[in-house]
Amino acid sequence: MSPEAMKFNTRTIHGGQEHDKAYGAVMPPIYQTSTYAQTTPGGHKGFEYSRTHNPTRKALENAFASIENGKFGLAFGSGLAAIDAVIKLLRPGDEVISTNDLYGGSYRLFTKVFEGFGIKFHFTGMENASAIEDYVNEHTKLIWVETPTNPMMNIIDIEAVASVARKHNILLAVDNTFATPYLQRPLDLGADIVMHSATKYLGGHSDVVMGALVVKDKELADQLYFLQNASGAVCGPMDSFLVLRGIKTLHVRMQRHCENGKAIAEYLKDHPKVESVYWPGFEDHPNHEIAERQMDDFGGMVSFVAKGNDYAEAIRIVENLNVFTLAESLGGVESLAGHPASMTHASIPRGEREKTGVVDSLIRLSVGIEDINDLIADLAQAIG
Ligand SMILES: *Cc1c(COP(=O)(O)O)cnc(C)c1O
Repeated sequence: MSPEAMKFNTRTIHGGQEHDKAYGAVMPPIYQTSTYAQTTPGGHKGFEYSRTHNPTRKALENAFASIENGKFGLAFGSGLAAIDAVIKLLRPGDEVISTNDLYGGSYRLFTKVFEGFGIKFHFTGMENASAIEDYVNEHTKLIWVETPTNPMMNIIDIEAVASVARKHNILLAVDNTFATPYLQRPLDLGADIVMHSATKYLGGHSDVVMGALVVKDKELADQLYFLQNASGAVCGPMDSFLVLRGIKTLHVRMQRHCENGKAIAEYLKDHPKVESVYWPGFEDHPNHEIAERQMDDFGGMVSFVAKGNDYAEAIRIVENLNVFTLAESLGGVESLAGHPASMTHASIPRGEREKTGVVDSLIRLSVGIEDINDLIADLAQAIG
């Protein structure tokens, strides 16, 4: 079957994969090597040095490309290393327009690292794509979109942003960590670059830190491969193997994440001690209609604020959870609870945070794939 003809649930397992040439191993071996023997200078079998290429990493990169409907995949040592490579496509004086409700580490990399190298970032809500035009000028080179946003679960219309980007000849990159390609395929919607923290759903088991980029365009891919090798923030073969294994069950895990996420969002919405719940599947979510159009389901991330909007109450709830673990990160098989204001988003100044709704009492849940009754019972006892 041609790779293009494969359905998504087949691609997660077979996309871009071939059996090992040496012994027919069904899973690519972990090529734990830094270098490769040459018969004469330059005489090698396609691999020279593992910063540049590694066969296990290459198998994973092909899987990334396949599941995102792209042509070229790149694996990095972390999600932030992947973002770092994208921003290094730019030059001093260039400008970037980014969603304002964004992963704290991305915000920190943009403002604390790259602003120092003369790149200018504009942060804005992109719920209304035409508002982006206010920030476009001849220096604008990149639009950076996260959707659903972290942790407020806002939805950005990728197609609408892509048409603004195309009109002004600006690159569009989408951080697809929350949705995963099971729910949303940004390249099909007009994006140029898809980025992942593969640490989250793609790896899926909270046992590895990794980043990914996928593109369709050969010239853009070559620039990024150059940066991947030149800056060197690559991942090792063992981690590549783990994420490749994780991707093989992405579709079955995501199906359950979505079912459990929906059940928990609905439970919290009806809870008398809960003030607000943020989940794009609700019909009264401000961009529910866009979520329905561009996503196949609504995912396993749910944020909420308990009644009274009280910091101490939020801390009490997250400390009392037993099945949910209080921890940074998301997207693993186990349910996690986080307090963005003091954890993932602590690097964003309070004033900036609160503008986007990340108040001190917000709790973010990464709903895992445990039995839903146990998860709801845990929330019931913790909220009280
Ligand atoms: C975790 C995360 C990142 C950063 O990825 P790392 O693998 O931790 O470097 C970027 N974007 C989103 C949405 C994330 O959740």
